[in-house]
Amino acid sequence: MTPFATAAEMRAVPRSPGFRNGGVSYWFRDVGLPARRPALPGGADYDVCIVGAGYTGLWTAYYLKKARPDLRVAVLEREFAGFGASGRNGGWLSAEFAGSKRRYAATHGKGAVVALQRAMMASVDEVVSVAEQEGVDADIVKGGMRLVATNPAQKARLQEEVAELHEWGYWPEDLHLLDPRGEPRLQVDGAVAAAYSPHAARVHPAKLVIGLAAAAEALGVDVFEDTAVSEIRSRTGGERPCAVTPAGTVRADHVIRATEGFTAGLHGQRRQWLPMNSSMIATEPLSEVMWRHIGWERPEVLGDTAHAYCYAQRTADGRIAIGGRGVPYRFGSARDSNGATPPQTIAELWRVLARLFPVAAEVPIAHAWSGVLGVPRDWCPSVDLDPETGLGWAGGYVGSGVTTSNLAGRTLRDLVLGERTELTQLPWVGRRVRGWEPEPVRWVGTRLVYGLYRGADRRESDRVSRTSRLAGIAGRLAGRE
Ligand SMILES: Cc1cc2nc3c(=O)[nH]c(=O)nc-3n(C[C@H](O)[C@H](O)[C@H](O)COP(=O)(O)OP(=O)(O)OC[C@H]3O[C@@H](n4cnc5c(N)ncnc54)[C@H](O)[C@@H]3O)c2cc1C
Repeated sequence: MTPFATAAEMRAVPRSPGFRNGGVSYWFRDVGLPARRPALPGGADYDVCIVGAGYTGLWTAYYLKKARPDLRVAVLEREFAGFGASGRNGGWLSAEFAGSKRRYAATHGKGAVVALQRAMMASVDEVVSVAEQEGVDADIVKGGMRLVATNPAQKARLQEEVAELHEWGYWPEDLHLLDPRGEPRLQVDGAVAAAYSPHAARVHPAKLVIGLAAAAEALGVDVFEDTAVSEIRSRTGGERPCAVTPAGTVRADHVIRATEGFTAGLHGQRRQWLPMNSSMIATEPLSEVMWRHIGWERPEVLGDTAHAYCYAQRTADGRIAIGGRGVPYRFGSARDSNGATPPQTIAELWRVLARLFPVAAEVPIAHAWSGVLGVPRDWCPSVDLDPETGLGWAGGYVGSGVTTSNLAGRTLRDLVLGERTELTQLPWVGRRVRGWEPEPVRWVGTRLVYGLYRGADRRESDRVSRTSRLAGIAGRLAGRE
């Protein structure tokens, strides 16, 4: 099989008559794009100003107002709440934390990394329980996570990864290999091994972000949409930190950057986090016969263990939504348009879908979309608040921000309130990392790394039964290891 989809394959993808490409995401098509909240009318003064109304910004605002109802909190959003990755993701509310555990352990010790992993598991339950308390109906079902291997190299890697994670905070009941004979459910074609963790829920991303914005507003948070921030400025002399917008400047004691994959667009942040694309397709609903054939009875989220891995969910309305990398990076950190996805990426995602679930290959694709996530130079997420400058941030979650953003929101609350808590001791707090290389090195490097990962996947599916050396080269080049 060719590494990239051919023109014939692109033409062969079955599309439904109402097929949409972009338009933010299938999730927003499902619920309808929201009416926009009013923009910031002019300069203003707040206690805390948050830039970006995705999960990170909204969780931070929500928890701050819950803890201190008297605080004046504003959220400034360029488009509308959920326009970014928070309204486009795969809906894996999982305990996975991106980043090298060894790197965090090098600065804080292994025990702190274990504490971080346990905090992630607790965060899955926290999101489920807040959604319930706040009446946010986001199709949340905690059905766990299943990872499958479809060739011997993936199987070896999965086994090693499970053993490795048992050293870093996952106990056997938190993650274990499945015995295929004892687990007849969920028939993934070609699966040679699988692992299961109960610490994951399936969510409808847009319903979650819409509900979260409403919950924050109900507590008294001011959310301004259609309000683009061009620059965030530190405290200088007697001047408080601020966020600059065309309508005016918002001054606050603390300004929090929660712009993830869009961060490069802010003044002075171009090389901070690399905006990496991830793309998805959603099928039309599958018939009951097909679901029975596949055996995906419980809504566990599903992923594979390829280097260019895929992630999938069974949606509440009976579709398969599946995603992967696509075109990883645009030259010069160019910004996402409205989620429009190249035909080649659509064909490659469909290829994965058809390989894992041949029966679903005849189901037309209803929607394709893309979004951006933020990747720090060392691939390790961070959260911090600098009392000197008054500036805070959280992000660089790579592909695992649905749950991590909740942990970030509670951590930023404690940092803003000046409280030393278990959360503020976690090893991702205060992590500083150098920026990415300038162009064209950044673009060439990213292309090369993802070319190597694809090459490694191809070799593993054709020839080698252990992890291909190409993947190791890619990991070192990327700075992941
Ligand atoms: C296709 C895709 C699939 C994914 N799947 C998963 C998954 O299944 N599980 C998982 O854990 N993670 C997943 N992720 C990652 C996850 O969605 C993100 O990590 C998470 O949503 C980040 O939330 P955020 O609030 O930090 O950023 P975002 O949701 O991107 O929000 C940032 C907001 O800031 C706004 N903004 C940006 N710049 C400015 C500015 N200058 N002024 C004002 N506002 C601004 C943007 O419009 C945006 O609304 C996926 C990501 C993508 C793209």
